[in-house]
Amino acid sequence: MIRATLSEVAAWCGAELHGIQAGAEPEIAGVSTDSRSIGTGQLFVPIAGDRFDGHDYIETAASAGAVAALWQRERALPAAAGLPLLLVDDTLVALQRLAESYLASWKPKVVGVTGSNGKTTTKDLIFSALSTVYRTAKTEGNYNNHIGLPLTILRADRDTEVLVLEMGMSGFGEISLLSRIAKPDVAVITNIGESHLEHLGSRRGIAQAKLEVVEGLKDGGTLIYNGDEPLLREELAALALPSNAIGTITFGESEACDLRALDIATDAERATFAASSRVSAGSPGDGDSAPNSRAQAAETQGSRFAVPIPGRHNAVNALAAIAVARLLGVADADIARGLAEAKLTGMRIERVQAKNGALVLNDAYNASPASVRAAISLVAQLEGYRRKWLVLGDMLELGPEEAEYHASIGRELSQGQADGLLAYGPLSAHTAEAASRALPAGSVRHFADKNELAEALMALVEPDDLVLVKASRGMRLEEIVRRLAAGK
Ligand code: ATP
Ligand code: MG
Repeated sequence: MIRATLSEVAAWCGAELHGIQAGAEPEIAGVSTDSRSIGTGQLFVPIAGDRFDGHDYIETAASAGAVAALWQRERALPAAAGLPLLLVDDTLVALQRLAESYLASWKPKVVGVTGSNGKTTTKDLIFSALSTVYRTAKTEGNYNNHIGLPLTILRADRDTEVLVLEMGMSGFGEISLLSRIAKPDVAVITNIGESHLEHLGSRRGIAQAKLEVVEGLKDGGTLIYNGDEPLLREELAALALPSNAIGTITFGESEACDLRALDIATDAERATFAASSRVSAGSPGDGDSAPNSRAQAAETQGSRFAVPIPGRHNAVNALAAIAVARLLGVADADIARGLAEAKLTGMRIERVQAKNGALVLNDAYNASPASVRAAISLVAQLEGYRRKWLVLGDMLELGPEEAEYHASIGRELSQGQADGLLAYGPLSAHTAEAASRALPAGSVRHFADKNELAEALMALVEPDDLVLVKASRGMRLEEIVRRLAAGK
């Protein structure tokens, strides 16, 4: 974590020191924006949010052991806190500047990971592949926004060799900001889906927003992106970057990709695949004009890899990790060992055993059409289960077409994929209605009440069955998983 004197911190974030006693300048060890969890010796950064203003909690932070605090200049100085203050125009901007300057003080390699789906998973996989060789740090959980990303940087120790940062967004300009703070050497775009259409208008808009990651990419840095997505290729070309400004590597399943996953297999525990031959970074546009790397990819099956998470899409996420690790000089044997031992963040197709022995795939962390399709296709591919149940809740933040997105998921279901659908939530009524035309009568039910769904599900599920539970975070479908696990 950051360790620095207050003068250093002030210089780094452009603050004016206030209330420091002569000859007794404290050092900070770490930064926190949360007065409830702040640790001794940390710098408190109060942020004004929609509902709470951190400035109101400075006394709590002080009594919990904060040694100093940033403070928005326009506010009255706190009377009782007794902490040294660093006065700034805007505490959020100061936090971001502090992170940027701290990073520049030791210059690790930075990998920035964005995309509609699979950021956290890919970030965890990159971390595992690199950790076999480098001292590596990564975003914890989902700390991927304009506050979480600076905090992640400030949490890293100065001997970190590679820092893997997740970059999330819900609108234009956000990835640009994160990328300019972190200045990645390597940027990854996992894919584009339909999440956040509400703010971005179209899938093309989403591609443009993800490509903002190029704005902070260091000179000569490399963009690694999903080559199965034409919109990314098109929008990258539209940026008309000078030909050797950045390198590019595309990954995916189609022949057009520099690095391909071949021969993908998946069971309920892991995905395995072969990665095509070693690639070196090209320049923008090379994806279409570099027959050599494609020819090479076609002739060499390359090493086989396994990741401890199921699904084709996770083989492709792993491919992005392989591209990053190879680029940073990690040998395939080390990458394979790292990926096989990867520790993934919870609720992304997490395997949970129901009390009666059935297998539950808990994918209740979030949902978008792309990730729901990926999860359903995984369920369809898994063998050895007596019956398969889909529990699908609403996908949120899809904008004006939300009803149609739900209906399309229902329409696409076919009898071989699942034995029944239990849908939950107002939007999922569209999924259920469309599915009732695609699946046999009686196998689709819609619930407005989560408890009723849980009761119905528990009456259906037998020990040899498989259950997928998936919805947006806000639907809190993990409660269903908990009930299946508890058997009541
Ligand atoms: P968030 O925007 O919430 O941070 P994220 O991009 O970090 O999400 P993950 O948490 O890794 O994504 O995965 C979220 C969901 O997306 C999971 O349900 C997972 O199964 C699914 N998913 C992961 N990778 C892909 C992919 N490449 N294509 C489609 N779905 C995917
Ligand atoms: Mg995430």
